[in-house]
Amino acid sequence: MNRESTLVKRKRPKNLQDALPSLQRIVERFQPQIRKQGVLLTVSSLGLFVEVFARLLEPWPLKLIFDHLLMPTPDAVPLRIPFLDLTNASTLLMVAAFSIIGLAGLQTTAAYISLVGMSLAASRIVTEIRADLYAHLQRLSLSFHYKARGGDLLTRITSDIDRLRDVTVTAAIPLLVNTVTLVGMIGVMFWMDWELALIALTVLPLFILSSTKITKRIHTVAREQRKREGAMAATASEAISAIKVVQALSLEDMLEDLFARDNEKSLEDVAKTQQLSAGLQRTVELLVAIATALVLWRGVHLILRGSATPGDLLVFISYLKTAFRPTRQLAKQIAMISKATASGERIIDLLDILPDVRDKRGAIVAPPFNGRVRFQNVCFGYEPDTLILDRLSFEVQPGQRVALVGPSGGGKSTLVSLLLRLYDPIAGHILIDHYDLRDYKLSSLRRQISIVLQDSILFGVSVRDNIAYGALGATDEQIIAAARLANAHDFITGLPDGYETLLGERGATLSGGQRQRIAIARAAVRQAAIVILDEPTVGLDNENEHAVSEALRRLTQHCTTFLITHDLRAATDADLIFYIEKGRILERGTHTELLRLGQRYAAFYQLQTAIGRHHDAPISVL
Ligand code: ADP
Repeated sequence: MNRESTLVKRKRPKNLQDALPSLQRIVERFQPQIRKQGVLLTVSSLGLFVEVFARLLEPWPLKLIFDHLLMPTPDAVPLRIPFLDLTNASTLLMVAAFSIIGLAGLQTTAAYISLVGMSLAASRIVTEIRADLYAHLQRLSLSFHYKARGGDLLTRITSDIDRLRDVTVTAAIPLLVNTVTLVGMIGVMFWMDWELALIALTVLPLFILSSTKITKRIHTVAREQRKREGAMAATASEAISAIKVVQALSLEDMLEDLFARDNEKSLEDVAKTQQLSAGLQRTVELLVAIATALVLWRGVHLILRGSATPGDLLVFISYLKTAFRPTRQLAKQIAMISKATASGERIIDLLDILPDVRDKRGAIVAPPFNGRVRFQNVCFGYEPDTLILDRLSFEVQPGQRVALVGPSGGGKSTLVSLLLRLYDPIAGHILIDHYDLRDYKLSSLRRQISIVLQDSILFGVSVRDNIAYGALGATDEQIIAAARLANAHDFITGLPDGYETLLGERGATLSGGQRQRIAIARAAVRQAAIVILDEPTVGLDNENEHAVSEALRRLTQHCTTFLITHDLRAATDADLIFYIEKGRILERGTHTELLRLGQRYAAFYQLQTAIGRHHDAPISVL
């Protein structure tokens, strides 16, 4: 298992040998998901075997006719089927004819069942893995998310997963079918005549060698082509986005030439890959022809000598044609699978990362909080060697409203992140109602804390749902009550679709103050005992600031409240003010007490009021 944020960058395995251990790891890791599709997989595997069996039997009716009707040999073993007289030529012919149709029907039906079944199982497995991955990703600690590149995570959850599914369906399943068929046919050939079988197989190594070599070259050219197309797109987008400069400097001709050159090269690459693929086809056909000729040559000798029948030869030649042809794809399929193992490994790497913050064993569901919060010598740092919070201790009584003030970077947001248990302290304890946060189940802890941030995030869903995200399952009455408390009900009912109005790109756009009031409604519907406000009125105009502040005062009534603010006017009515600097609470008390103390807070306050003298009357949030 990986500890936090150590996502390895994986190299693509170059061949199947490199890929095999990964493949094994992938199958083992996804055992539970695979096992859930057990029935489907069993049925489709059965289908696969029936399909291969029918394929193996395909040339046998013809052999029957040759050996018993057209060129009967005296020592041929007589055939027996109950109730049918096979010595009768027309009965035999009829049996052979119906077998051909029957076998084709059986083969195609079984192939259908196995292909559909396996594809479905693969899709279901991959879908489940994706759901697990998404759930896992959401639970990983913030410290992981801050370090991981968002793009990389998205790739893992989208393209890596897609590749896994595509390759299973386009390469792994056909490879499995072809391999089982090949093994089956080789088995039957050896059973019939080992010498002819050996002759037929002489070309196999040549075959694998040449197809691997050509496929590798195809890959190289294809990769070149993809790179060139990327470059072409970049040139085009650069030129188009800077078209003014291009035209002003008369660079059109030069850029056109550049583009044309890449364009032509790309065409050459396409032609080259097609040429190579056609070449591979030619090689395969030629090798099959050589094997057929060899088998024919030796086979006829054996027939003349009486140790083989013409029917045997027929079966052999037909097997050669059907068994070897799909191996053309072999190298390509193996390459695809090897590439996909890298995707599988990238997914597993991510799944194996343990969240730093997680439920400890025996964690309890938090009972409804009273809201007493205590920090005992809490130390914390994002990096091991820099302390952001340094032995922080304080106690806040239920319903007390605390303002956290002080210079930027002092550790105020970090403090509330710890309260939400987005991170765990490296030393000390944080207690709510006498229990350490780590004794509670995470979800039951966070459910009882509401937050309103400076720039509250609204989702691209309806206003109603945006509020309901605060307490999933809230009734319409609760949502409306919360919206009223947040001063939001009136403007929401004025929106085109009221509470059902969609927000976000395609929906209504709201002013900052309106967004903030929806966020407050979302916090209110949670009815939490503890509320965290992180600069909730920053960036609002005066009118909105009034509406939001009023809403916040209602929201925080009777709640233990932590307000982070750089605007000291918003904190004047707080029950308790912590002046935090460099991770320590340097001053604590009420506004009047701190002013009387006449130190940092007082100086800070005087500075702000001096600057803001021309502004409107101070608005207290608390
Ligand atoms: P405040 O809220 O008082 O402005 P913060 O708690 O946001 O202070 O930040 C305290 C210190 O922690 C700052 O030096 C900041 O650079 C650092 N910090 C904040 N978040 C992270 C993070 N995710 N990773 C690393 N350092 C961080």
